[in-house]
Parts: sequence; C-alpha cells; structure tokens
Amino acid sequence: MSYVCGRSSNKIVHRNDCRYVKLIPKKNRKPFSTVEEARREGYSCCKYCSHIWKYVGREKNELDDYCVKNGLSYSFNRTDGFLDIDSRQDRWKVIVSGKRHHIFLYHRNTKISLTPERTLVPGFHSQKAISQTILGYMKYISEHDEYVEELTKAHKKKSKPVKGTKRYWKMVRREKKSVRRKQIRNVLGLIERMSENNYMEGVR
Ligand SMILES: [Zn+2]
Repeated sequence: MSYVCGRSSNKIVHRNDCRYVKLIPKKNRKPFSTVEEARREGYSCCKYCSHIWKYVGREKNELDDYCVKNGLSYSFNRTDGFLDIDSRQDRWKVIVSGKRHHIFLYHRNTKISLTPERTLVPGFHSQKAISQTILGYMKYISEHDEYVEELTKAHKKKSKPVKGTKRYWKMVRREKKSVRRKQIRNVLGLIERMSENNYMEGVR
C-alpha cells in the first residue's frame, strides 16, 4: 500500500484510495510506503481515509449515544492516526494494527517507565481486552472507570475508621505502638551518640 500527500501547505498524508487524493495535483504528490514514514517527516494523518475512522463511521450513532450517557468523549488524533478516548478516570487509545486492520485498546501509563518501552503507542500500554467494535471497548472503559471509582471509595472509607469501632481501637493501638517504637529508636540513637562522644573524649 502506498500513501500520498500534498507536497505543500498542510502536510497531510492520505491513503492512495482517499477521495482527497484526487484534489491534489499529480506534480504535488509525494509517495510514501508507510504512514509512519510520513509521520516521521512531520505529516499528520487524514481522518477520512484512516482505518480507525472507518470503524467510527460504522458505529457513529451508537458511539455518540453511549458517550453522552456515560461521560466519555472521543476524537481522532491527527498526529498518530489513532482514536483518543477520554473517560472520567483515564485516557485511552484505540489503534488499528496488522494486515487485517483489527482494533486494539491501549491505556495511558500512570507511572513513568524508566526502561525503554516495547509498545506501539509511547506512554500507553496494551490493555488485555478484545473487541471487534469501538463500542465494545467503550463499555470496557466504563466498567474500568467504575471499578477504579469503587476502589477509591473503599480506600477512603478504610482510611477513616469511626470512633469507638473495633477498627478504630485497632488503629489507636497501632499508632501507640509506632510512637513507642519511635521513642525507643530515639533513646537508642541518644545512647549511641553519647557513647561516641565518650569514645572521642577517651581518645583525647
Ligand atoms: Zn485522506
């Protein structure tokens, strides 16, 4: 598959069969063998001939409806040619990969990775979820959001035990213990420093 683009002005790369290619004068067309090649030269991707936008086109009404009801939004990313999805909790990408143009879900990393990543999408990791449709991935994302929200709620509840409950007294005991440990550490440190001073005095 080859890709062409207008040599001048807006630097957008199209697939060969894109209807916009016809509008570019032949002398202004510049061929590329892969989209990545064009992207490395600073070209951005045409939404209308991208594989991902074809998926969107097939599901558009369902997707828009689902997004409104579940607080999601999606947009075409011109830089990488993938689909960005923002949910209440996170950012996601749906990418198209392989000869059969299957779609895959990627999830934004929460921690900065120090080792070089082996991923198709820098800053994102592949999510273990399989769907043939974008709607399927959106449902997965909503469930993921709910799961994260439940976890945070449970964590908040746990961090503040109600006064007088079993958990409260457990916390009090734990805190007392840690204060005592700290005091012991301080005394030990003091003794150590004193003996060091005595030693120095003895040397003198
Ligand atoms: Zn195009």
